[in-house]
Amino acid sequence: MSAAGRLRYLFGVHIAGRAALRFERLRSEHKMRSRESWRHRHLERPLDVSPRLKELISRHYLTGRYANGARKVAWVTSGAPIEVLTALNIFPIYPENHGAVCGIRRTAEEYCKHAEAAGYSRDLCSYARTDIGSILSGKTPVGRLPRPDVLICCTNICQTVLYWYQVLAHHFGVPLVIIDTPFLYREAPSHAVAFVKNQIEDSIPVLERIAGRSLSHGRLRDVTRMSRDACELWLRIVESGRMKPSPITAFDQFIHLAPIVEMRGHRYTVDYYASMLRELNTRVGRGMGALKDERKRLLWDNLPIWFRVRWLGDLLAERGVSLVASTYTNAWAELADMIDPERPLDSCASVYLHPILNRGTGHKLETMKRMIDYYEVDGVLLHSDRSCKPYSIGQLPQRESLSSEAGVPALLIEADHNDPRSFSEEQVRNRLDAFLEVLGV
Ligand code: SF4
Repeated sequence: MSAAGRLRYLFGVHIAGRAALRFERLRSEHKMRSRESWRHRHLERPLDVSPRLKELISRHYLTGRYANGARKVAWVTSGAPIEVLTALNIFPIYPENHGAVCGIRRTAEEYCKHAEAAGYSRDLCSYARTDIGSILSGKTPVGRLPRPDVLICCTNICQTVLYWYQVLAHHFGVPLVIIDTPFLYREAPSHAVAFVKNQIEDSIPVLERIAGRSLSHGRLRDVTRMSRDACELWLRIVESGRMKPSPITAFDQFIHLAPIVEMRGHRYTVDYYASMLRELNTRVGRGMGALKDERKRLLWDNLPIWFRVRWLGDLLAERGVSLVASTYTNAWAELADMIDPERPLDSCASVYLHPILNRGTGHKLETMKRMIDYYEVDGVLLHSDRSCKPYSIGQLPQRESLSSEAGVPALLIEADHNDPRSFSEEQVRNRLDAFLEVLGV
């Protein structure tokens, strides 16, 4: 770390950057207050907190832009135990979240092609191809990504990340910390929790060396407490989809998910979700739904189709269909009560063992059945994601079980979360039309 780097960081992030982002937020808030700003025929206006979300995400990437030379940087998988890193003031970059930004901004296809031209198979996850293509081409819609000082790969979401992060370690020539999480068919046995905890403990001296400071256990407790508070708030936010009409759709949740994934363990994330929950409660009190006329309610399974979130949201809203819940956004909520700030490392080991993708397909089916009842949905949309095999495996028999055992129709949509070449608008529209007719809308 250098004095010049710190100065650049101080000015770029804390002085000029903060002022510019604040100005932009105030401008958006002002625009949103004007009655003319929202004229959608089927959707209610976005949440008032939305400009704050944009400010948070922009600040995150702005911090990354100036981080090299001022702060140590880790590139991490979405399910990596982040609390130790945050307590050591190491700045995290999530290539998967960056991939989602590229998907939404429609640049992912170009980066995927770049990776494929370098020899990476199109059968690889499109997040991995987006990331590798972005690195090789030097392009990103967020300005600039900082170079990592360390990589943290946790295998609790899939095995692809293991090979993807080996590619990154080779490319950047930096240490790779692997946290291996045994697959769970039932609740985690104590030896599995101990196995993961040992690996997290073993990673601490490595991370301390990189951070140039010792881990403060008091700070780790505080960070873990804020992670838990944010996850609890997120749980209550997604659960507000239970109300009729629902004040939030899963499409809104996909967008508002970013802080819980990449900014856990910070006060500003807790404050943000507390404001969001207050606003949702106010909407519920006024009987205001996310749709102007909610006639049917659906559950979503799997990642979003990032490059078609708006298109799909509009298409369903036109027919009065609200996507009130999703297994994907629920994944960051359902483990909230496992987080124990008084036992940060033990609870961390437990929490990071239990993500939905590290558990059998039976667990996912049970989760969907529970959500069908809890959210009182009329049907399920299963996104068969060409890229994400671990999330998509078993969806065919699951579709049958949902119809025969849970009594709701389910539709399988074939697409990809980030690669538009594996998506046929016409085919998806036709299937949805037929499905919605069955639902009577
Ligand atoms: S295969 Fe699925 S879980 Fe793995 S990185 Fe891709 S989207 Fe994430």
